[in-house]
Amino acid sequence: MPFLFRDTLTGETRELATLEPGVVRMYNCGPTVYSTPQIGNFRAWMFADVLRRALELGGHEVRQIMNITDVGHLTLDDTESGEDKLEAASRREGVTAWDIAARYTEEFFESARRLNILPAHEYPRATQHVPEMIAMIRGLIDRGHAYVTPAGNVYYDVATFPAYGRLSGNTVEELEAGARVAVVPEKRHPADFALWKRDEQHQMQWDSPWGRGYPGWHVECSAMARKYLGDEIDIHTGGEDNIFPHHECEIAQSEGLTGKPFARLWLHNRHLLVDGRKMSKSSGTMYTVDDIEARGHSLRALRYMLLATHYRQPMNFTWPALDAAAGAVRSLDTSVRGITAADGVADDPSLAALSAGAETRFLAALEDDLNVSAALAVVHELRAAVNRAQTVSRGDAARLRGTWERLDSVLGLDLLAHAASTPEARPDDAEIQGLVDARTAAREDRDWARADAIRDELAARGIRLEDGPDGVRWTRD
Ligand SMILES: [Zn+2]
Repeated sequence: MPFLFRDTLTGETRELATLEPGVVRMYNCGPTVYSTPQIGNFRAWMFADVLRRALELGGHEVRQIMNITDVGHLTLDDTESGEDKLEAASRREGVTAWDIAARYTEEFFESARRLNILPAHEYPRATQHVPEMIAMIRGLIDRGHAYVTPAGNVYYDVATFPAYGRLSGNTVEELEAGARVAVVPEKRHPADFALWKRDEQHQMQWDSPWGRGYPGWHVECSAMARKYLGDEIDIHTGGEDNIFPHHECEIAQSEGLTGKPFARLWLHNRHLLVDGRKMSKSSGTMYTVDDIEARGHSLRALRYMLLATHYRQPMNFTWPALDAAAGAVRSLDTSVRGITAADGVADDPSLAALSAGAETRFLAALEDDLNVSAALAVVHELRAAVNRAQTVSRGDAARLRGTWERLDSVLGLDLLAHAASTPEARPDDAEIQGLVDARTAAREDRDWARADAIRDELAARGIRLEDGPDGVRWTRD
């Protein structure tokens, strides 16, 4: 079956038809490295990771490129306003902008590694690709898509690119009518965006045909995508906040230069909210992976939580939801660990059919615009069925482990390694009571799937529950 995705550019659900059969060229907008990445940022990179893993499970070879934005930019670059976050961090921490970039690039890699995000094939740094950006800007000037102002700034001339606004709906006329862009006298049109800023005060500056300065943010991605993936790519991803202006401008630059369609599919993930609200520094909700661990939670639970919400749905982070994710991971661990093989037990054909069926349905769910809810439902059905099977033949055990390995190649929870390295401890009374209480709470919330998952987990660990008029009683087998 082909993969189907909802494409932001056309608004249609479209088949993934790659330029080169079997090979997916994918570009993901990566971090701007001026502070420790927080879990909201990781939603986008977890989406990219699960997408890549799903494509690989589906038999594609994926060439994944994620940029590192390590050049500082004004937040509102084109109106000369806002702050340069790298330079602001440099003042705050008393080191250079270069040191800031190096430090937070490392922190990004470290957090990504701890979340078991597969490394991209390349992580091009903007600071190391300025010649490619200058070449692209030159090409755009030669083709009449960009102009140099007397002050030495270079702008993209949006009026020369009629498709501008197709991705975001912010057409040149719309922008004018809504006065969405401030007037800067040296620009031909208020929506024109900077390709090169002449600035000899900026900490990061390079020589260019237009004087010393630094590149615009948008041209970085166009230039690096082209260098590593070619003029045309299969999938471009980013957070919904990247749609405008960033990706709109990338299309104008890349297609303005090459005359070819830039990305065949544009996929965008929605934001992560904390307790139903936008994360903010003032409310203390910009959690990092260290914050999650400091509160005693595992990053496997965080990973499960980040992948369990469909990428086009807003995701709401709450501590109880993280507890629920931890419970789901525990129930998978228990099930995988519980696959006990014995000699003299005959193969059970229904188990082989169950494994194969689970794999087929899991992949089919992912092929349907990465339907993770359906994929996880398959995972938990398999878990429950395996729990019921108890002792199995050696052949069935090997088959089941193979199935878990393939499902986990997308989940990224290291289920088999985890099961092997942590033999089940006999649960103590407090732990059992905690799970029983969590099940009661889930039932009160009418979250039957969660309540059943906890009952199954307890059953797999030899605990029997009895619902009675005075509450729940439990006994050990
Ligand atoms: Zn980008």
